[in-house]
Amino acid sequence: MKRNAFFLAWILLLFGAISVNAQQIIAHRGYWKTDGSAQNSITALMKADSIGVYGSEVDIWLSSDGIPVVNHDGDVTLNGEKLTVQDTPASTLRKVKLSNGEPLPTMEEYLDAFSQCKHTKLIIEFKTHRTKEREDELAEKVINMVHERGLQERVEYIAFGLHFVQQTRKLEPDALVYYLNGDLSPRVLSTMGLSGFDYHFNVLYQKPEWVKEAHALGQKVNVWTVNKPEDIQKIIDLKADYITTDEPLLIKEILQK
Ligand code: MG
Repeated sequence: MKRNAFFLAWILLLFGAISVNAQQIIAHRGYWKTDGSAQNSITALMKADSIGVYGSEVDIWLSSDGIPVVNHDGDVTLNGEKLTVQDTPASTLRKVKLSNGEPLPTMEEYLDAFSQCKHTKLIIEFKTHRTKEREDELAEKVINMVHERGLQERVEYIAFGLHFVQQTRKLEPDALVYYLNGDLSPRVLSTMGLSGFDYHFNVLYQKPEWVKEAHALGQKVNVWTVNKPEDIQKIIDLKADYITTDEPLLIKEILQK
């Protein structure tokens, strides 16, 4: 009897220890701060997968001819000329070279590469476009591509735009969808059926009570983009569930301590 009680206590302790270090890492624009990689490149996605993070984040735009493409900024530079991504056809955008020499990827190519990943989830950020119609077109096209490849269990969606998160929730009722803009409380997000928030760490420093509020509503808490050791420790102490970072290996190291 005593022996059983001892084992039970030991198992509870073990689970306690696991749940204390429950934070998961999301590589911001992939794992790009490493040799041969570049932000939002296919290499950065594969490198994120190779270091076993929970997720790899990526930014998506719709080209002028309706092709979802991968890029962070709203514009790119080609032969010294500045081009707005949403006003440029995909065939021109493809000529843009990332800093590691890769061509700017289309979402089709990116998802094909992601199909080969073994560990990481893909966190898809829809960038805010000029019109709601373009945003609807982008969300619908990307979600269809995800379904065609049977990847719906392995992707999550994020956006700063309220229209985007609501549209994604409508098109993909079972997906995890998070709002990025920092201005809405967990209670409001819950009325919209969202999975939680994904806010800048300064928002959390101002409103640490939102972590508890979110958890009480069954939501998850994500925080971006946490790179400095002192911020990483603060966010761990605040009990965020996911930490988005340009320094995935540093966070791994801190979590293992
Ligand atoms: Mg992003």
